[in-house]
Amino acid sequence: MQKDNEAVNEAVNEAVNEAVNEAFNETVNEAVNEAVWEVIVIGAGIAGLTASIYLARAGLNVLLLEKSHPGGRAASTEMEGASVNLGAHALNRSVLPILREVGITPAGAPPKLPNALVFKEADGGHRALPLGQLLLGSFLKWHEKLELIRFYSRFRRADLASLHTVSLQDYLAGQLASPRVRSIVLALVRLSTYSDAPELLSAAAALGQLKQDKVLYLDGGWQSLVNGLAEQARQAGVTIRTGSPVREITGSAPVMTVTLKDGTPFTARRVLSTAGPLETLALLNPALSREEAAVYQQLVPVRAACLDLVVSGMPFPKVNFVLGAEEPLYYANHSAAASLSRNPAHQVIHVMKYLPAAGDTDPKQDEAELKGFLELIQPGWSRQVIRQRFLPRMLVSHSLVTASAGGLAGRPGPAVPGRPGLYAAGDWVGAEGMLANAALASAKEAAGSIIAGIEQLEGRNTRGA
Ligand SMILES: Cc1cc2nc3c(=O)[nH]c(=O)nc-3n(C[C@H](O)[C@H](O)[C@H](O)COP(=O)(O)OP(=O)(O)OC[C@H]3O[C@@H](n4cnc5c(N)ncnc54)[C@H](O)[C@@H]3O)c2cc1C
Repeated sequence: MQKDNEAVNEAVNEAVNEAVNEAFNETVNEAVNEAVWEVIVIGAGIAGLTASIYLARAGLNVLLLEKSHPGGRAASTEMEGASVNLGAHALNRSVLPILREVGITPAGAPPKLPNALVFKEADGGHRALPLGQLLLGSFLKWHEKLELIRFYSRFRRADLASLHTVSLQDYLAGQLASPRVRSIVLALVRLSTYSDAPELLSAAAALGQLKQDKVLYLDGGWQSLVNGLAEQARQAGVTIRTGSPVREITGSAPVMTVTLKDGTPFTARRVLSTAGPLETLALLNPALSREEAAVYQQLVPVRAACLDLVVSGMPFPKVNFVLGAEEPLYYANHSAAASLSRNPAHQVIHVMKYLPAAGDTDPKQDEAELKGFLELIQPGWSRQVIRQRFLPRMLVSHSLVTASAGGLAGRPGPAVPGRPGLYAAGDWVGAEGMLANAALASAKEAAGSIIAGIEQLEGRNTRGA
């Protein structure tokens, strides 16, 4: 009898334990699936990673959803043991304070000044002129040399406040009489802004960018930056979900739903999208009003055609950096400054064409032009190639800084109008900087706005950004 009771008790205990365990597991799973995230960040490029670090360090629980893998346009590709950026990337030193704040001190070195500018000759040929010879030799006439010197001694003191709505083309037309000097200045503006649209570019933004001319080529490529940011995000407690493409954002603060393409929903109090302007618009249900959406739709993207190479040296090893003066072309040996390959004999070369803002170019012609430029600078280069790839229309930035929009202040802010709780960050957002600088500055600004909003509206005490 006693044995029977024991058996019954055991069976009952087992059944109860199973039921309790099942209930517990269900609750835990439900809690994970139905967790209310304080912030969901969409996109693990450098903007999304940076914003999520600030948010998590302020004590918020953050889910970062990335459709492929971390890095976005800042990712590098492993090619024959070399880390090759998606087209030529140089980190402007003005971004270092934000990177240091999130715990990153990038390793790398500044490139040397361009060896030469390549000018077109009247007979259709080309002439490569070492930079030093511009002022010493006879290529420029004395009044042109004077004009160039005057421009460079004055532009740093230019009153930028009056130039936001003036196009660079109009500004230079009033400053420089010599077409040759203008082409030299435009080549340097292309180098610092990555754009070839002086007719649209805000003069204030262009001159501001020219002033911040100190850059670094990063050891290990920009992937080292991405890896560092992802590591800091994980350490701060951010949950990073890769392979998670977002299909839809619904609701508004404090209850928003982010749904993946496979239908998985996540609930959040705030959402920060670092997808591009058009991609972000496409996620919104309901859509923004026509006027609200127009701000995003009218942004002018900046594109480049890129030829990336891993080579076993170059025929003229001292020629490391050359720009086209009249043609929007760029050549640089990034291995001359940064450590990019496990094999010390391999070098990473970037050749690039800055594409015009209006009208499409023919990718085949662009590729032929890049290879022709390379042949001009490094005759016999093709015998040195270990791997090469051509990226015909890389999106450098989602937004040119245009004079017609009022310069940097004309870019959209981080709070998305008409959708409380929804924010955006990226190289098309906020009034600070261009390219990666804009991506990081807007990430910090958006995170700050989210933290301040949660503190003010919900009386929650965060640890601040
Ligand atoms: C050829 C080239 C040269 C450049 N050179 C320089 C340079 O010299 N200096 C400089 O400062 N900058 C340079 N840049 C620009 C710089 O790379 C970008 O400004 C910066 O990487 C942008 O970061 P981001 O996070 O804003 O955007 P992105 O890198 O575009 O990141 C957005 C992320 O969101 C993800 N995503 C999009 N939609 C969804 C979705 N629906 N669901 C989930 N995830 C989604 C994407 O997969 C991506 O990872 C260059 C860019 C290019 C292409």
